[in-house]
Amino acid sequence: MTRVGDMDAEEFRREAHRIVDWIADYLAHPEKFRVLSSARPGDIRDALPASAPEHGEPFDRVFADFERTIVPGLTHWNHPGFFAYFATSASGPGILAETLAAGLNVQAMLWRTSPAATELEDVTLGWLARLIGLPPAFGGVIYDTASISTLHALACARTVSVPHIRSRGLSGTRGLRVYFSEDAHSSVEKAIVLLGIGLDGACRIPVDARRAMRVEALERAIEEDLSAGRTPAAVVATAGTTSTTAVDPVAPIADVCRRHDLWLHVDAAYAGAAAMLPECRQWFDGMERADSIVINPHKWLFTPFDLSVLFCRRMDVLHETFSLVPEYLRTPESPRVRNLMDTGIQLGRRFRALKLWMILRYFGADGIRARLAEHMRLARLFASWVDADQDFERLADVPFSVVCFRCAPARVPEQALDALNEQLLDRVNASGEVFLSHTKLDGKLALRLAVCQIRTTESHVAQAWELLSREAAIVLSSASPERP
Ligand code: PLP
Repeated sequence: MTRVGDMDAEEFRREAHRIVDWIADYLAHPEKFRVLSSARPGDIRDALPASAPEHGEPFDRVFADFERTIVPGLTHWNHPGFFAYFATSASGPGILAETLAAGLNVQAMLWRTSPAATELEDVTLGWLARLIGLPPAFGGVIYDTASISTLHALACARTVSVPHIRSRGLSGTRGLRVYFSEDAHSSVEKAIVLLGIGLDGACRIPVDARRAMRVEALERAIEEDLSAGRTPAAVVATAGTTSTTAVDPVAPIADVCRRHDLWLHVDAAYAGAAAMLPECRQWFDGMERADSIVINPHKWLFTPFDLSVLFCRRMDVLHETFSLVPEYLRTPESPRVRNLMDTGIQLGRRFRALKLWMILRYFGADGIRARLAEHMRLARLFASWVDADQDFERLADVPFSVVCFRCAPARVPEQALDALNEQLLDRVNASGEVFLSHTKLDGKLALRLAVCQIRTTESHVAQAWELLSREAAIVLSSASPERP
């Protein structure tokens, strides 16, 4: 007869020990895996049966298939040679907290469905707010990703601009406008689409030579929209853009927002953690005047994916925008407690605060600052190697831990450089030792090295540079027409 009920306690204990041992070995030697998977499209699907098993299988067999089929198809974000995008770091305390959260399976939609999860979220975000220098006026909410945090922030801006949004939607509204720099993350435009504002309401402001938003162009765009009868609603300033980590001038942008009564959202998804460092505070000047701010601990605060924080000065607006309570979710303590379902689109809420709390306690503020400072030192060191090599060229400043550069020997014509760098990137990534990503800056293909993985040390950065130099020499020897 088919067994019912869960895995028994002894089997669970045995398998859990095996898995913890596996993870501990994996984290001790992530380099034994290729950082970028060499899987081809369809490889993993083809290796798996088309339908689920009719009868249950021993965990042993399932785990063997995990090792044989799944692991080779992974790109290893825990690898110290992961320099692409912004690495997410699954730190030890973060993994342990996630394990506990999975075991507890808490769903914190209401205070009573888990008082500790609700209150720990408040307390931990209060700690984080103080660490990055925000005043007590800010409340906070944890979501999964920055894209969702920004969606919620812009939904608040829409509520303020269109007070009848809940009853009549956008009807009768004339051209809502949201302003953000050319280099802002695509999640801003996605939010604009989802909120019914439409891409006609998306206003990209040009950037200056340092790739920061031009404030006079912002002011001009707002004035033009006002004279045309459109409705400016919000400005998104980015502190640490995705391509180069450039920082928009938040304080002057806050002045513009105050003058025109606009919602200011600061996207500090990657760089926000650096506000914990006194030497970086200048970059975040004015952030304390924002209406909302997003910071992703899963980007540069050693938190396993996923955890994004939205700090909001107008929690009443967030509540007004997202609270909708059916009878079956009413509780007697409701007016006195916070119910997390009231500040977001989701009803169900994972216990994400546990990992941030354990990480802040385990490393301490000084431990986190030391790790962030080390990543910035490593990025500057890499940038110094780029600067000193006449075959390479740096393409942006390095305010934090990302370096944008390319191979650009004087003898190679400009029009051949994109193809050359593409080839170089492919060769370096094919090594399986490092993984870098790319971007385009002023039409030029730029390679991008981001140091934010907690296991990355100077030797890994040096290895990346040696590999780049070696592969560049090979690419250049195979084709290098003279620059005219
Ligand atoms: N904002 C910035 C500045 C980013 O760099 C990114 C992603 O890299 C995002 C937002 C989106 O992040 P998420 O994947 O958490 O939605």
